[in-house]
Amino acid sequence: MQGEIEDKCGIVGFHSQDESKDVASLVYYCLYALQHRGQESAGIATFNPQKGLNYYCGMGLITDVFKDYEINNLSGSMAIGHVRYSTTGQSKLENSQPFVTDFDDGFIAMAHNGDIVNSAELRNELKADGYEFMSDTDSEVICYMLKKEHYDNNKSILDSIESVSKKLVGSYSLVILVNGDLYAVRDPMGIKPLAIAERNDDFILASETVAFDAINAKYIRDIVPGEVVYFENNEIRSHMLDLSGNCKFSHCMFEYVYFARPDSTIDGINVYETRMNIGRQLHKLYQIDADVVIPVPDSSIPAAIGYSRASGIPYGEGLIKNRYVGRTFIMPTQEERELAVRLKLNPIKEAIKGKKIILIDDSIVRGTTSKQLLDLVKEAEPAEIHFLVGCPPVVAPCFYGVAMATKKELIAANYSVEEIQEQLDIDSLGYITLPALVEAIGMDERDLCLGCLNEEYPTEIPEGLEAETYYKP
Ligand code: AMP
Repeated sequence: MQGEIEDKCGIVGFHSQDESKDVASLVYYCLYALQHRGQESAGIATFNPQKGLNYYCGMGLITDVFKDYEINNLSGSMAIGHVRYSTTGQSKLENSQPFVTDFDDGFIAMAHNGDIVNSAELRNELKADGYEFMSDTDSEVICYMLKKEHYDNNKSILDSIESVSKKLVGSYSLVILVNGDLYAVRDPMGIKPLAIAERNDDFILASETVAFDAINAKYIRDIVPGEVVYFENNEIRSHMLDLSGNCKFSHCMFEYVYFARPDSTIDGINVYETRMNIGRQLHKLYQIDADVVIPVPDSSIPAAIGYSRASGIPYGEGLIKNRYVGRTFIMPTQEERELAVRLKLNPIKEAIKGKKIILIDDSIVRGTTSKQLLDLVKEAEPAEIHFLVGCPPVVAPCFYGVAMATKKELIAANYSVEEIQEQLDIDSLGYITLPALVEAIGMDERDLCLGCLNEEYPTEIPEGLEAETYYKP
């Protein structure tokens, strides 16, 4: 069974009570700061009491999609925005978000970060009720579920969200614009991040705090797992979903390991600090005699600094990343894909030649990047290569929004560490252990989702549900 399209994305919500204000450009800047969460498509929906709902979505980076003309056409003081992540399939405009559909003589717009594991079943129920689908997104499913509760059962928006939450299995951080009203929802397990900030008299919701920094907004707090936030008289109102007390927190560890920006703080834990701790933990586990500690840029830089500080071995740049190579680069042949890695990362031969190097990367997922990367590094003729990895072996897929890969593709699901080391043909390979990672994050292990590392998923997974693979050159 093909899973519903996953939405590992960045979301933004903006609430201003000043109806004369247009907030689309501020949402644009927030999305710009969240670009690392998705490069496939971008979209913004705004509400203006005179013009109603306006929205615009397009494929590509936020700067490709929105120019002055598009932003100027999006008038209104209430808005939501979305950047979508690229996976190997289903790359089409219909799947870009926010998803918009009619609602109560107006419109509902929704942006979603996460993945609903039972969406195929929910979609079939809605189809049986006559709903016709335009996209493959979970947002469309959730919007129609809200419509159904609201129309058929005559429920308020808040009560509809409450009822829908009881049927959704999976991860969801949502921003919803129902005509002029903004709602934000974080699933009761808190798998995906969502936080709120203020700026003058306005409120902003975003996947990561870097979005607040970009527009000089002041972080207030994270949305609590199972919380619905909305606004009345320009004040934050909070409603806890019935499920909230009954679900175990399951914050995604991969946000800290790789996905989030290091300058973000998620659920009170700074990502940069965590990655430095990962480096320190790697040093506790593997005390290697080497000349230099080299990160695979950019995500592994803090871990390499952490290892260097803990060991006293100098930190050094050994690979330079071309910052202009995007992930949406499409290369049809194997040869071109290999060239793309060379284009993206280039070793500094003088920094590597003849040295015993410790190379640190954030994670190995399918193992293809590591193989190509190490081939490049070997061309620079180091004396020894010790490869350390800041994430324990990824042995199982993620069904909650990080399109890791299918089990078949996951190298650690199919080979032992010794076998992987052999395949990579290096002097040593060391993964961080699960307890060391948990210690680096500093959260109670029971509050983390570690499903891709230990196959203990926080929800049931429908039989036959297939995982998606991310797209990357
Ligand atoms: P590979 O082992 O070839 O799948 O590539 C692993 C590298 O890709 C990691 O070091 C990360 O930098 C990056 N990465 C890991 N997981 C993801 C993901 N779900 N989406 C995008 N990039 C990822």
